[in-house]
Amino acid sequence: MSGEAAGSGQAADVMCKKREDYLEWCEYFMAVAFLSAQRSKDPSSQVGACIVNPENKIVGIGYNGMPNGCHDDVLPWARTASDRLDTKYPYVCHAELNAIMNKNSADVKGCIMYVALFPCNECAKLIIQAGIKEVIFMSDKYHDTPEMKAARHMFDLSGVKYTKFVPKQKSIVIDFDSINSKRSPPAL
Ligand SMILES: [Zn+2]
Repeated sequence: MSGEAAGSGQAADVMCKKREDYLEWCEYFMAVAFLSAQRSKDPSSQVGACIVNPENKIVGIGYNGMPNGCHDDVLPWARTASDRLDTKYPYVCHAELNAIMNKNSADVKGCIMYVALFPCNECAKLIIQAGIKEVIFMSDKYHDTPEMKAARHMFDLSGVKYTKFVPKQKSIVIDFDSINSKRSPPAL
């Protein structure tokens, strides 16, 4: 009997402690950027961005897509074509642009942008002009292209910090069924 009592006491203690495996802020914001990217219709590149203010509140989210009112089925998604007008490049809005334009605060000055991919030079200009102070990115796979070199150069000149995000875990799983997991009702 005493063994049982001790056992149930331990179980109760475990349930009273706060969870230790909760998401840290930076993982949470990067995960929001990645979740947002899942909205993208682009067949070759899905990028998401999440803007966070100094109070750790999300003030803007965006993903790459065609401009408002320009139907996804009308404009091209190709990366290469004999005519550049038949590629996506002249039309598509990058995640960073959409996140800034979608802001739900007066401005994004002093905010941090979490983004899956290091920003191109055009987005770097927007980030700088919007007053964002830091970019936290996951991948820098186009590091040696002129666009990324120009972006870094402008960030360095304007004092925008850029930091590579190193996740603690390789993946975060969202299991819609987890909310249904059974737990014993609290003892009266
Ligand atoms: Zn861009």
